[in-house]
Formats: sequence, structure tokens, C-alpha cells
Amino acid sequence: MATPVVELQEVKKIYQLGGETVAALDGVDLVIEEREMVAIMGASGSGKSTLMNVVGCLDRPTSGAYQLNGSDVGSFSDNRRSDTRGRFIGFIFQSYNLLPQLTAAQNVELPLRYNPRGFDRKQAVVEALDRVGLADRANHRPNQLSGGQQQRVGIARALVGRPSLLLADEPTGNLDSNSTEEIITLLQELNREDGMTVAMVTHEPEVAAATRRVVTLRDGRVLSDEQVEQRHFSGFAQHGEATGVVQ
Ligand code: ADP
Ligand code: MG
Repeated sequence: MATPVVELQEVKKIYQLGGETVAALDGVDLVIEEREMVAIMGASGSGKSTLMNVVGCLDRPTSGAYQLNGSDVGSFSDNRRSDTRGRFIGFIFQSYNLLPQLTAAQNVELPLRYNPRGFDRKQAVVEALDRVGLADRANHRPNQLSGGQQQRVGIARALVGRPSLLLADEPTGNLDSNSTEEIITLLQELNREDGMTVAMVTHEPEVAAATRRVVTLRDGRVLSDEQVEQRHFSGFAQHGEATGVVQ
């Protein structure tokens, strides 16, 4: 039987802005199982980033229950929550969030400084950069790398702590079609070959079609949740019809 990695029950995230109340998440029930690859879609403002931040333990829900790998993270202290994040979760950002003064290798090493486990840091960095095909760019700074390469450094940084769950908030939002293909193919490989659970936000249907399940949010709720036939991303539809089915 499949093992749930993420289990959300009736999760709400309420913001008070002036006199107004905004329910960024308004009762989300969602289970993501081990080795799934899920796309989160929905209009701007529908709660996608809020959901990723809650699942990624960057933010706490206002109410509802969240279990990560069977642990009730909602009840954890801030310290225990960030320890859990370091252990189980790799987060990938739309704008890469690399530190410009550090090399690729130094950026990838950053999470290990806060990781209590006794990794051989240098070896872990070499392996992570190698996994994303950038072993030969270890000493480049972000401004010496293309957008796609910078995002691969961002993925290596997410991988270096050997997480079981990869979360990505519009990972290809700043990239052209070729770099998008490179990043989506890499995420598919990490899911299929390395057995990682992947959840990524996208508003591109062609990117969502590269996953196996599409969850659509509207107004902070799950509007639909569908299994899809996984496709290889090979461009956006307006640049010529995309995609062959993966296996
Ligand atoms: P999406 O990523 O789908 O565009 P978000 O999760 O960023 O949506 O936002 C969902 C809703 O919550 C929006 O209406 C947004 O304005 C609101 N929101 C998000 N973050 C905050 C915040 N820190 N304070 C107040 N409102 C917020
Ligand atoms: Mg967003």
C-alpha cells in the first residue's frame, strides 16, 4: 500500500489585513503519497504559494491538521519544525534565490550548515551538483550561469540534504522553453529514478502534463484533483504541438 508523505485535513490559512479577512487556504484536504509527482494549478491568488509554504513547513496553518511522514508537524515547536524541514524537504523557488556573492558549490552547501546530521559536506555538494549535471560549474557565480543552470543549482541545493519531498513554486516561471524542458526533465528523473516525491506549482498546462496528477485550487480550496497521463515536456503548444507520453 502507498505511504502518505503529506496529509492535510481541513487546513486553513487566514490573513487579517486591516479590517479584512483573507482565507488564503479555506479548508484544504490533500494527501500526497510517496513517489507521486503532482502539479498544483490555479489562478493567481488561489492559494498555491500559501499551500506550498505550509507543506514546506515555512508557514503554519491557522487551523486544521498537517501530518508529514506520519508526524503531526502542526504541533511541533519552531525548532523542531525547521529541523523536520531540513531533514525531509527540499524547496525550489521561481527566482532561484541564490546568493550572488557565493559560488554554485557554496550556494549548494548552505543548507548543510543548518543540518544537524553528520554529512561529509564537500562530498554531498559534489554529488548534488553532479546529479544536476553541473559538476563542471562548481566555482561559477550565479551571474556566470544561464537561468536554467541557476535553477539547476537551486535544485542541487534542494537535494543536498537528501530530502524525500521536493517542493517547487513555479520552478520554470522565469525560464524559456528550452530551459523549462531541461528542468522539467530533471524533476521527472528525480521522481522516477531517484524515487523522490515531487509537488510543483505551475500555471502552464504543458508543464502540468509532465506530472501524473493535477490538483487545481480555487479561492483556497481544492477545485479538482485528477490523474493524468505523464508526458515529456518539449515546448509550449504555441511553439508547435508538445509532447510524447513518457513510457
Ligand atoms: P497564488 O500563489 O495562488 O497566487 P497566494 O498563496 O500567494 O496565491 O495567495 C493567496 C491569497 O492570500 C491571495 O489573496 C493573497 O493576496 C493572500 N495572501 C498571501 N499572502 C498574504 C499575506 N502575507 N498577507 C495577507 N494576504 C496574503
Ligand atoms: Mg504564488
